[in-house]
Amino acid sequence: MVENMRYSNNDREDIKSLTLSELKEQMESMGEKPFRAKQMYEWMHKKLVTEYEEMTNIPAALADKCREHYHYTVLKTVRVQESKVDGTRKYLFELADGNMVESIWMRYKHGNSVCISSQVGCRMGCRFCASTLDGLERNLLPSEMLEQIYSMIRHTGERVSNVVVMGSGEPMDNYDNLLRFVELLTDDNGLHISQRNITVSTCGIVPKIRSLAERKLQITLAISLHAATDEKRIQLMPIARTYPLKELLEACAYYFEQTGRRITFEYSLVKGVNDTDEDVRQLAALIGHLNCHVNLIPVNPIKERDYVRTERRAVEAFKNSLEKYEIGVTIRRGVGRDIDGACGQLRRRYLEK
Ligand code: SAH
Repeated sequence: MVENMRYSNNDREDIKSLTLSELKEQMESMGEKPFRAKQMYEWMHKKLVTEYEEMTNIPAALADKCREHYHYTVLKTVRVQESKVDGTRKYLFELADGNMVESIWMRYKHGNSVCISSQVGCRMGCRFCASTLDGLERNLLPSEMLEQIYSMIRHTGERVSNVVVMGSGEPMDNYDNLLRFVELLTDDNGLHISQRNITVSTCGIVPKIRSLAERKLQITLAISLHAATDEKRIQLMPIARTYPLKELLEACAYYFEQTGRRITFEYSLVKGVNDTDEDVRQLAALIGHLNCHVNLIPVNPIKERDYVRTERRAVEAFKNSLEKYEIGVTIRRGVGRDIDGACGQLRRRYLEK
């Protein structure tokens, strides 16, 4: 079942997906004072309570009314796996309808970073990715994206400084909910995460990249590139048939022009597929003119496909060659490799059992 559940879940409005001004309107239409909206918003999005009972300054009658009127999103934590290598945690959450999503908690010197999912499953069909093997189940509500973060904060008792929408799903395929998620996440009555500390990763849905550019947000756009020619990219990512590299790169230039934000290109290295000297040259020719940064990710092999990871030394060599073209490049820290680090793997393994 695929549908945009934007507001309703069980036919009731989703209270945690409402902006503060919408919540104010709703309070007024219920005959409540508008200041109740701010109180409730803070309970939900700043103090991160999981039920109305905890909202100590909200009258019981109002709590009852809300219970009746709205759906209140909370996720059930089904599993937490902690990496022995680097302390990375991977969470598996169950949604109200029984679907599962996964999220990652990473510790860096500069603070905690979380990676969240934007959809249950995915319909983009990238060949190396586990999230897309069973297609798209449904879009996540803004509240369901937020709650992944809130649940991890409650569990760890720590703050989050960076949010990356780089888990399962294609955020640009759930565009309206993504924008609302960003609005709620950055609201100063909530977690108040700065736009600059939010990264959204896309396989390259060009019209949505252009729309996002026009909003002039300060979020970082990460593009999953993975190949420097259309021919090769189509082999790895079916979306490349719809949006060829030329259009994608023009949209990236437009994003930079509109926002001043440097583009990040993600490039998963697959042995013998996209990691040769020729690939480096083509990549440099493709993106060298842009204000960008490349993130190299040795591919995480999934058992359903026979892609093999480029060896460490060859990854270093690829990096060094790219640097000769004066392109900024980092190798993604292989976080949580011992805990099914690749997108969608934990959920799949759980569902298989
Ligand atoms: N749909 C979005 C975000 C989700 S995937 C996108 O395509 O960008 C996050 C990143 O991980 C993408 O760059 C994706 O291509 C990459 N990825 C997915 N599976 C992978 C795997 N098995 N190994 C390495 N990278 C992978």
